[in-house]
Order: sequence, then structure tokens, then C-alpha cells
Amino acid sequence: MGDEKIYMIPVNDAFSVDCECAFCYLENNFEKQCLEIVLGESVMEVDSRVETNKKGFCPRHFHMLLEQKNKLPYGLMLETHIYEIKTNFERILSSHFMSLNTQKREGFLSRFLNNKALRENLLNDLLAFFKTINSQCVICERINARMKNYFDVFFFMWKTKKDFQQKVLNSKGFCLYHFYDLLKISQNHLHSTDLDQFVEKICKIELDAISQIYKNICEFNKQFDYRNANNIPAHEVRNSLINATEKLGKYK
Ligand SMILES: [Zn+2]
Ligand SMILES: [Zn+2]
Repeated sequence: MGDEKIYMIPVNDAFSVDCECAFCYLENNFEKQCLEIVLGESVMEVDSRVETNKKGFCPRHFHMLLEQKNKLPYGLMLETHIYEIKTNFERILSSHFMSLNTQKREGFLSRFLNNKALRENLLNDLLAFFKTINSQCVICERINARMKNYFDVFFFMWKTKKDFQQKVLNSKGFCLYHFYDLLKISQNHLHSTDLDQFVEKICKIELDAISQIYKNICEFNKQFDYRNANNIPAHEVRNSLINATEKLGKYK
């Protein structure tokens, strides 16, 4: 089994957890680790955080970093990341200004922006720069790479370990996001009858899970009828809004 064994343990364990999606459980845990790692890196030397400085994060992960207890690592990270943005922003602007080949800086920008070709070049460079900045996230990249690993391990175990397969089939299925990923990736790992059987089995548990959630939600809503005022709803009915949200909306 070699190195794969290290990755098998979390995937195998995740399918023992009573949750709406084992991949959400894995992704959620890894995301928490990433937040800690990134903040740990931010107090190290500038050279070791070149990637973070350059790429930054998506809105979700900026806000999650903001919510972490220790504020100094985030402050240091922001200091270097914003410096990087400021420097590059200035570089784009100054490279265009210099192309005008004039010594005067007064009224420079307005004259510059009156030149259609120069304005379009500047705008294209600015759009490209901000599009790149806004689309990059160090944490999302790490999560995507790790999730790819987890899916590889999932299919390796599905093919080689009957007890793991049974564990999966006894689970509550997956959130709709990871169910989509699972179906999509299955084509890279399984072929012909193996793929057909996988899709059939996995769809059965997913549909059963969705049907059960639907039933629980209906029961939940019935509680608000005065005729049911004295009924004590079952645990899964009381939790049905949370469970349904997790099933439909990935982890928080
Ligand atoms: Zn999920
Ligand atoms: Zn992100």
C-alpha cells in the first residue's frame, strides 16, 4: 500500500462519522488545518510566504482568517500581501505613463486617458491584473489538491476493499456538490460494468438520503400545526433543517 496508506486513514475514518457528507467532513477539517498553516507561515521569513503574498485568498478565506483568534499573523500577512498589490498596481500605471515620454506629471492622467489606444491598453492591463488577483486563493488551491487526493483514495479503496465499500453504502450519501464531484471523477477511475454498478449503488444511497431528508422536513413543518402541539418530534426531525442545509449546501 506504500504512501497511500497515510491518506487512507482519514478517508476511511470520515465514512465512520455520522454526517451528511464524508467529503464535507474531510474538506472542513482540512480547511481548518490550512487556516492554521497559512497563519503559521505568515510569521515566518518573507521568502517563505512568497506564494501567499502574491496570490492572496478568496473572500471566504480572507474572512475566515480575519475570524481567527491570533490577529498578528493575519496582520503580517496582510501587510506583505497589500504591499505586493500596491507595488504591482503602481508598476502597471507607471509603465503606461512612461510610454507617453514626457517629463511633466501635472495633468498627466487626464491627457493619458484622452488617448483612446493608451487608455484601452491601460484598462486591459488593469483588468487582467485585478481579475488574476480576485481569482486566486492559496487555501482553495491547497484544498482542491487535497480533495483530489481524497477522491483518488476513495476510488482506490472502493475497488480494493469490500468493507470500505460497505461502509460507504451504509452512509447517508453526500452533499450535492461532492455527489457531483464523485460522479464526475468516477469516470476516471472505473470503467464499463464497474462504473455502471458504482453509479447505480451510489445513486441509490443518495436518493434514499434525499427522500429521508424530505420526509423529516415535512414532519418538521407539521410541528407548527396546533394539532401537533403536544407531539415530541424525533431527533432527526428536530435536526432536519440543519441536515437538509448540509445536504444541499456543502459544509459551512
Ligand atoms: Zn460534501
Ligand atoms: Zn479560498
